[in-house]
Amino acid sequence: MARYTGAVCRQCRREGTKLFLKGEKCYSEKCALARRSYAPGQHGQSRKKFSEYGLQLREKQKVRRYYGVLESQFAKYFEMAEKKSGVTGENLLQIVESRLDNVVFRLGFAMSRPEARQLVRHGFFTVNGKKVNIPSYLVKVGDVIALKEGATSSSKIKAILEANEKKAIVKWLELDGTTGKVVALAQKEDIDLAIEEHLIVELYSK
Ligand code: SF4
Repeated sequence: MARYTGAVCRQCRREGTKLFLKGEKCYSEKCALARRSYAPGQHGQSRKKFSEYGLQLREKQKVRRYYGVLESQFAKYFEMAEKKSGVTGENLLQIVESRLDNVVFRLGFAMSRPEARQLVRHGFFTVNGKKVNIPSYLVKVGDVIALKEGATSSSKIKAILEANEKKAIVKWLELDGTTGKVVALAQKEDIDLAIEEHLIVELYSK
């Protein structure tokens, strides 16, 4: 399935929750969900009750859209999560959190995950000193993620760093200037989205 290129705010309205896909706008009163808190489309205001399957499907779509992950890749992450020891749902969240684009966003090097994805693709970051331009790259505990040398001369990067100067960093990451480090595995409480991951596990276990 191709990446969604439509109006991203529709995705938040469809899921009925903020997915933080537009950067600063998401935190302002211009947020489309704040202005129209119902699903898009002709019947959006008469949201129907979901079946059990519908609830499971919506939860999966919500998480997939929040992290910007394609359907096939999300299914692969689920397989990985099942193979790991521990609780499958928690493993799944740890895997999506460890994507390089998410880590770049969490460190405050981008205003949104879509922007982080774009900056990673454009080669703005190194992992353990080597350039990595794959947004889905999965970081590990101990990895060091840094803005490449000279990146701060970009006016865009400067503006992002200034805007995020006071951004709180999640506990499992450390930030020192333009260098971040993964110090632990991500925890569910660090995710600013209410997720019922057991619904996703139930969906894939059918
Ligand atoms: Fe749009 Fe961001 Fe609001 Fe979502 S949270 S509706 S992406 S402005």
